[in-house]
Amino acid sequence: MKTLLIIDVQNDFIKGGTLAVPEAEQVIPVINELMDKFDLILATQDWHPKETAHFEEWPTHCVAGSRGADFPEELHKEKINQIFYKGTGNRDDGYSGFEATNIELSNYLKERGVSKLYLCGIALEYCVKSTALDALKEGFEVVLIRDAIANFAREQEKIVQEYEELQKAGAQIMSSHQI
Ligand SMILES: [Zn+2]
Repeated sequence: MKTLLIIDVQNDFIKGGTLAVPEAEQVIPVINELMDKFDLILATQDWHPKETAHFEEWPTHCVAGSRGADFPEELHKEKINQIFYKGTGNRDDGYSGFEATNIELSNYLKERGVSKLYLCGIALEYCVKSTALDALKEGFEVVLIRDAIANFAREQEKIVQEYEELQKAGAQIMSSHQI
């Protein structure tokens, strides 16, 4: 099953949100178009308790059930087959979709015979990266869809470095047109 994992496309991470990633809303139409090319569409949502050690490092964002934690209206969320809430504990950060989720992602994928994951979403340097690295560790093939991933870094050099690191770890990088 060709499987897309959309990471943390949520109001607080786009324009107007409490932890907005620059230009992150631009990945939404790309992701909407991508969805039609997949059999199984999964999404993670950062889903924090009101008080968590995570907010010592970050501004309050994506509190469970809040508007900030919702999918942006523009995202075709009706096409998502399963949502995984992450960061739901009050001691862990839960950057990765493989960590502290309501449904154990690795088992979910293995039960369905999924061996390859296509990743997109927000943000490259944290949740996309840690999800990609955990997926590789769990033995999944990983493809990063570059124009469907938003990054904090504004310097091209830093972005390139992040992708190189992920490539060295075993991830493939593609553009949405190649999917
Ligand atoms: Zn968070």
